[in-house]
Formats: sequence, structure tokens, C-alpha cells
Amino acid sequence: MNSYDVAIIGSGPGGYVAAIRCAQLGMKTAIIEKYPTLGGTCLNVGCIPSKALLDSSHHYEDALKHFKDHGIDIPGDIKLNFKRMIERKQDVVDQNTKGIVYLMDKNKVDVYEGLGSFKDATHVNIKKNDGKTETIEAKNIIIATGSKPASLPFIKIDKKRIITSTEALSLKEVPKHMIVIGGGVIGLELGQVYRRLGAEVTVVEYMDRIIPTMDSAQSKELTKVMKKQGVKFLLSHKVNGVSVKGKEVAITAKDKNDKDVSLTGDYCLVSVGRKPFTDGLAADKAGVKISERGMVEVNDHLQTNIKNIYAIGDVVRGAMLAHKAEEEGVFVAETIAGQKPHIDYNLIPGVVYTWPEVASVGKTEEALKEAKVEYKVGQFSMRALGRSRASGDMDGFVKILADKKTDEVLGVHMVGARVADLISEAVVAMEFRASAEDIARMSHAHPTYAEAVKEAALAATENRALHA
Ligand code: FAD
Repeated sequence: MNSYDVAIIGSGPGGYVAAIRCAQLGMKTAIIEKYPTLGGTCLNVGCIPSKALLDSSHHYEDALKHFKDHGIDIPGDIKLNFKRMIERKQDVVDQNTKGIVYLMDKNKVDVYEGLGSFKDATHVNIKKNDGKTETIEAKNIIIATGSKPASLPFIKIDKKRIITSTEALSLKEVPKHMIVIGGGVIGLELGQVYRRLGAEVTVVEYMDRIIPTMDSAQSKELTKVMKKQGVKFLLSHKVNGVSVKGKEVAITAKDKNDKDVSLTGDYCLVSVGRKPFTDGLAADKAGVKISERGMVEVNDHLQTNIKNIYAIGDVVRGAMLAHKAEEEGVFVAETIAGQKPHIDYNLIPGVVYTWPEVASVGKTEEALKEAKVEYKVGQFSMRALGRSRASGDMDGFVKILADKKTDEVLGVHMVGARVADLISEAVVAMEFRASAEDIARMSHAHPTYAEAVKEAALAATENRALHA
């Protein structure tokens, strides 16, 4: 039987990053993945394919609507080759998943393909596709089994007309009318992809605003811009029925006045969140506690109730994000190696990759109000930047929330071109506990979108924005 210092179940961004860090720290490491490709949800059916389709559909829309403005005339009609777009997305996924194979090899991590399940607290059975089972032994085990799309009790996902994000990333045709249930990150990103490709898109959201966990100014701005792009929103609508007849999907809902609303489309994307995944893991054989909601319970060290078993990523509490899973992978590897790592969960950024992008870190205005923290706001519109005028990307803003007395930056919220990249400046600043004036006094290259961060910081300092 093969023996390891660490065995990791699941090869998503949590699992594979944990494996690399364990190997770097000199531990003999194994990783177990039930699917033939490594990389988990993120690389196969999550972050990477969705961004590939967002980028492709963005190019298509630019060619269709914006090239003319820039003085680019294309002879003949611009045609969508949707099959090629999906193929390219798959090429991108394949290159990325192959990259993980390379990394495992380079770091001398043993990869096992098959379903991993606990035999006991130090042994994992690996059921392979040929029906054979192999058992390995490990001093430490990391559960990194991720998550699966959630649904509503009355919805039967048929994967043809009533679909999750997984199917939406590999459709054979562009929907005529896609009804998106849930105005969170995944629904909005995929909704925007299909809107750009010509679908009518209606987003039905239970709350009174989209991206409800982000700052309400961001919800407002993104709603405004996406409406301009042609996406329809039914907010404060509680979906209570979804049915399929042939090629038609019918949705019924109640609006905020309890009035019945019904709509029909040809596809319904159910994007109401994700749930932790532990099916087939036999956690009970090792005595690992799973909460009623299916989450692996962990303490502050990401250790389960069984001392040598840890859990990371989507399968534990906290934001379901790839970079959060990665931080936790490194954290657990270093903890096992006897180090004292640290994660500041307040500084895990959240991003929506629509266009304009939306990005946040730290506290929202709503959270500060609730916590009765006295704060000041500095906001700067992207529209006022030379860079935005040059590119034509005028929507959005940067908003900095700083402590009223100390000027420490408490939250940064952005909507606009490339803010998914800009948010890193805010993370760095907040990690070093910068004040708004610290940011305001640093030189930002001109002309860049990043100047909006400096201007918002100036506005937060003493209302000193220079170009407002
Ligand atoms: P996962 O990536 O889910 O990996 C878990 C792995 O474990 C899977 O490969 C699974 O097959 C395997 N597994 C499960 N059980 C077993 C078992 N018993 N034996 C062997 N293997 C097992 N996050 C971002 O940060 N940015 C984004 O842009 C982003 N976009 C997204 C877009 C979509 C459409 C979706 C669905 C998600 C997106 N996410 C994004 C979320 C991100 O994908 C997850 O947060 C991330 O993948 C979680 O990583 P993980 O390692 O915890 O689990």
C-alpha cells in the first residue's frame, strides 16, 4: 500500500494548490480526482470557461456594435460561429487542465483517478473507473471536494431546457429567450454572454436587487448598464414553478404585491447558488462531522473534528471562490508543516466579470451602517477619466469607504472596465492598513483606469478629487 504524508481528495483550485504547497514543503503528497481531468469546477465548468465565453462574446459585440465607431468597417455581415466559440472555450479549458497535470508532475505529486472515500481516518479507498479499488494511507488528509449547483425544491433540472451553469457553458445553440433564475454572479455573467450573442435574457431575482451581497451602489450601476444592454430584470419576484413542454420552458412567480407573473422562454438557467459536495466521500467512516447543510465543519485552522483531517474551499464555510480555496490550500499545507499561516477573510476580493466588471473588497456601506461604524465616502466616476474616453468604456465608478476618524480604508467597491484587476490595489492597500490619503498621495500612471482609485481616495480624504 502506498503511504503519504498528505492525501488530498479533490483537484480543484483548493486541492491542487494545497498539493503543490505540500510538495514544496517536502511532504510526500497524493491527490485524488474522480474526473479524468484535473482542476475541478473552476477550470472545467466554472471560472475559466465562463471567462472564455465572456471574452469571445465581448469581441463579437464589439465587432457588431462598436467597430464602426472606431473607424473599422468590415465588408459583409458579421456572423456568429457559435460552434467555434464553444470549441475555443473547450480548447482554453483543455490547455488549463493540462497545465495542472504538468504542475503535479513537476512537483512530484502522485495523481490518482477515481472516487476517493474514507476507509478510516488515515486510509482512503480510491474506486477507479474500471471498478477496481486501491487503498492508500496518509498521515494527513485534506477534503477539497468542492460544490455542485444548487436548485429549488420544485425545480427539476433536466439539463436540456432547465439547465445549470455547467450546461450553459456547452449549449448547441444560442437561446431565443433565456430566463435566468437568480441575479448573482454566475447568472449575470452567463446572462450577459447570451444577451451579447442575440438572446433575449430575463433575470428573475428574489431580492430587490441583483448581486445582493455587494454594495448597493454596485447593484444599481450594474442594473442600469445591463438594462441598457437589453437584459430585462424582474426583481422582488419569487419563482414558484418551472415546467417544460417540448422546447418551451414556462416560469411562474409572485411579484412583491403577491401578483402572479408568468413568462416563457426556450431555456431556463437556474443559478441560485451552489451547495457543498460530499457525496460518496463516506466522511462518517473517518468520523468527520458534516453540517446539516452539507458543509464539512472546520475550526479556525480548517481542521475538522478529526485532528489529522482538514477541509478547504467550497466544501467549507465562507465565500465560494477559487482564490479563497487557493488561500485555504496554502494555509492547510503550511499548518500541517508546523507553520503559523494567516488568512484575512475580510480581504478576499469578490468580482463579477460582466462588462463593466464589478469588484469589491472589505466592508460595504450597508455593513458599516449596520455595525454603526462612522465612515466617509469618496467616489469617482469612470466617465471623467481620459482612459475611459479613449476606450469608450465610460460606465462605472470607484468608491472608497474610509474610517471617519482614522482615515483607514475599510472597503473599496468598483464598477468599470478592468476593475477585476484594479481591485488588487485595494487589497494591497488594506492589507497594509493604508489610509485613503496614503492612496491619494501615490502616483498612478496616466492615462489608466487606476487613476479612478487615486481620485476616489482624494475624494475620501478631504473631498480633494482633482478631475471631478
Ligand atoms: P472544486 O473546484 O469544486 O473542485 C472539487 C473537485 O473535487 C472536483 O474536481 C470534484 O470532481 C472532486 N471530487 C469531489 N468529490 C470527490 C471524491 N469523493 N473523490 C475524488 N474527487 C472528488 N470563482 C472565482 O473565484 N472566480 C470566478 O470567476 C468564478 N467563476 C465561476 C463560474 C462558474 C460558472 C462557476 C460554477 C463557479 C465559478 N467560480 C468562480 C467558483 C469556483 O469555481 C469555486 O469556488 C472553486 O472551484 C472551488 O474550488 P474547490 O477546490 O473548493 O472545489
